[in-house]
This record gives sequence, structure tokens and C-alpha cells, in this order.
Amino acid sequence: MTFEDLRQKLTSGEVSAKEIVQEKINRINELDPTLNTFLSVNSQSALDQAEQIDNQRASGADLPPLAGIPIAIKDNLCTKGIKTTCASKILGNFVPPYESTVTERLKKAGAIMIGKTNMDEFAMGSSTETSAFGPTLNPWDINKVPGGSSGGSAASVAAGLCFGSLGSDTGGSIRQPASFCGVVGMKPTYGRVSRWGLIAFASSLDQVGPFATNVSDAAEILQIISGKDDFDSTTVDIPVPNYIDYLSKPIKGMKIGLIDNCFEHEGLSSEVKKTVLKSALVLESLGAEIVNLSCPRFNDGIATYYVIAPSEASANLARYDGVKYGFRFNEAQSLIDMTSKSRALGFGSEVKRRILIGTYALSAGYVDAYYKKAQQVRTLIRNDFEEAFKKVDILLTPTSPTTAFGAGENVDNPIAMYLSDLLTIPANLAGLPAISLPCGFDKSGLPIGLQLISNVFDEASLLQVASQFEIAAEVSKKRPKTDFTY
Ligand code: GLN
Repeated sequence: MTFEDLRQKLTSGEVSAKEIVQEKINRINELDPTLNTFLSVNSQSALDQAEQIDNQRASGADLPPLAGIPIAIKDNLCTKGIKTTCASKILGNFVPPYESTVTERLKKAGAIMIGKTNMDEFAMGSSTETSAFGPTLNPWDINKVPGGSSGGSAASVAAGLCFGSLGSDTGGSIRQPASFCGVVGMKPTYGRVSRWGLIAFASSLDQVGPFATNVSDAAEILQIISGKDDFDSTTVDIPVPNYIDYLSKPIKGMKIGLIDNCFEHEGLSSEVKKTVLKSALVLESLGAEIVNLSCPRFNDGIATYYVIAPSEASANLARYDGVKYGFRFNEAQSLIDMTSKSRALGFGSEVKRRILIGTYALSAGYVDAYYKKAQQVRTLIRNDFEEAFKKVDILLTPTSPTTAFGAGENVDNPIAMYLSDLLTIPANLAGLPAISLPCGFDKSGLPIGLQLISNVFDEASLLQVASQFEIAAEVSKKRPKTDFTY
């Protein structure tokens, strides 16, 4: 069911918002003890909110677009009065005194916040296994990871525990789990969506974006959260197009670029490659022109990102010192002892690894060799994209080199884990919008994701091509069987 289908059922009175919310709560109670997609569920407040909407509808009031639609929120987005942990022990009891702009906008649009979703600690990871509160499992196969870091937001949509969700994407954390869980996930242009109230990981890369079962719902969420915000000076004051208008537009004559060096990578699974190349043919059959091109620096993204992101993280995470808020080690002998033990016990090992790498890369004597060099390569990657967008409208790559990998398979191998973001990271480094949508399945029935990237602030074309593909290819209608035994 799309938002539009649901809206019609709600307007006609076929179903009430309260019934919808109750159905989702029942499903969460049934499936989430296994999947662990939620860190907290706001059952009572969601039911109250739904009842309020039902009453407003009964009194004939004009309702906002998402009225009565249950949406889940990644647990790194601050929600006033509701625990926001970032899946970290250090924020285990943090209750924000303010609301993030994106959740505020969704609330105003009538969406019902059903709960906060599990994630890799501080959004660092690609499997949702670094959460301090246990891993999330993939609803397509519970022996596989859901991807990460927004694994809870992706898996909860895939398992039908909510209608849509918000995640954050610093290097692929929306698109890669969307790909692993067979749902649509989108990272907007840097500056399109406010980061106010998003707990910072790497501020020059972080963006909030939607997950949904289909492109049109993702477009609706994006519509609501986009636009200038006075609380975030990096948001850009340019008009937000009506995205829904673009979804039905034909793509005849549009130029789609296949980045050839993405398809030559040794880690790329042959099934993923075959399925994604077949998707290009679907777009061609719709009248798009396929152009082969190179982005020579594309594969340097990963090395660049793993200097820049940890550097920014090491600065951003300096605030967790046991003094102002968050976890504090209480038996300390001195201030230094208190701060270092609070951090040592409060952070998990992946977060500490990033802080160490970042602190090293920023230290005097190394900053030019690592951080500055990485920023220079970042510019070269961006230049590659600028050249590419002189020739084509949209770029096409797989989202991830493989389908969902096994739980525990990469936990002790950070490099293998980092490589799963090979194809998503360049868009973050260049600030470009990108979407992942289902394009097929591998032999074991796991979803494969197609990534489309567009030029800055051209989310409209991205959604247009994605929507036309979705209609023509008809893959996204398949849902996971959630009859797993537990
Ligand atoms: N997996 C990448 C990392 O670990 C990206 C994370 C993200 O986008 N938040 O840094």
C-alpha cells in the first residue's frame, strides 16, 4: 500500500488511523523481538496521536498530507522528550530537550512517529552490528545483516512495521541498507534537508533522507523535510519542486551514464553486475539514451572518505566528555580519569577506531599529508562528476557490490566492511543526491539495489527516472516473507 492508497482508505472511512497504528504495533510486537529494528516504540503516544487525527477527520477538518501515516525515525534524530541514543551506551539515557527540524516537519504533516530505529553506533558501520543494543536482522533472511548504518529504518519498512522512515547517510547509510532490504532509500543533495537535531557524525557529509516501499512515498517524505531551515546555515534557500509532478513524466531522450569503472571492480558480484546492467536496458527501452563514461577518481572515494569522515567524527565526538550530558563514569579519581573512563566505557570499538584515525589524521605533522590531501582528492572526485553531468542527466551504478552479507561475516574485518560503501561514498563526497531502489534478486532471493545519482539539487530528475524504472521493472512489489521461526 502506498501513502496515497492509505490516504484514500483513511478518507473514505474504510479504516481509521488508530486501527492502522494498532496493526503496526501488533506487528512490531510479533516480529521485532527477532528483528530488533526498534530501540524504542512510542505505542501510547502514537495511538493518542492517531485518535486525535481520527477525531479531526470526523469533525470535517482539513488534514495535512501524512495524517495518520506511521513513520519510524532513526535514533540519531533528536525527538523532544523521547530517548535518543545513537545506539550508543554514551547516550543511553539521553532525552533531548528539543526536536530535530525533519521530525518537526513530519509531525506538522500529520505523520505518526511510531518509534526510534536501531543503527550502527553513531552511524558508523555498514551492518547495524555496532549498535550497543544488539544487531538488527534482515527480514529477507535473518542470517543476513540489513546493511547499515540505518539498518533499523530500512528493515522496519521492509518488514511492514511502518509505512516509511527516516535515516541518515554520511557515506551510504541510507542507500546501502535500502539495497540490502529491498526498499527505496534516498540521500538528498547536501544542503537540501536540515541537519538541525541530527546527532553529528561527519558534518560535511551527513544528510537525512527517506526510506519507503516505493518511489512515490519516498518523494512525499522528501517533499516535507526539504527546504531552508534557519537553524541549519548549510541548508540552501532555493525552491523545492513538487516532486510528485515528476514521477509520471516520461524519460524519453534523457541521458543515463554508466560509470564503467564501477562495473569493473573486482569485489563486484557477478549477479549484481548482471542485474544492474539489465536495469539499464529497461531504462533504454523507455527511450533513455545509455552513455558509457568514466569517473577516473570514483574508486578513490573510499580512501578519501576514511580520512575525512573519521577526522570530522573525532572533532564532533569530543563533546562526549562525561561532563555535560550522557554517560559518566562515577568512581573516577580526577577529571581526566572521569573523562577518559567515561569515553572508554561509553563508546564501542568502531567509534573508538574512528576517533583514533581522525585524531591521528588531524594531528600536527600529519594534517597536510592526510586530511588536506584527502580534501584535495575530494575536489578531484567532484570535478569528475561535474564533467560527467556535462554529458548525461543521471548516473547509474549498483548500490552495493554485493547483496546482504552474513551476520558476523565482516565484524572483525573493518576493511571488508568499509568496502561495502565503495559505490555510495562518492556521492557524499561531492554532495550529490542519490537513490537506491530494488532492481532484482540474487539466486538466494536477496534483493539487489540500483543506484541513480543526479546533479546537485536535481532530486526531481532522480525521482522521475526511479519512478519510471519502478513502473516498468515491477520488482519492488515483492516483499519478504516474515514467517521466520524464532
Ligand atoms: N558505512 C559508512 C561508515 O561506516 C557510512 C556510514 C553512514 O553513511 N553513516 O562510515
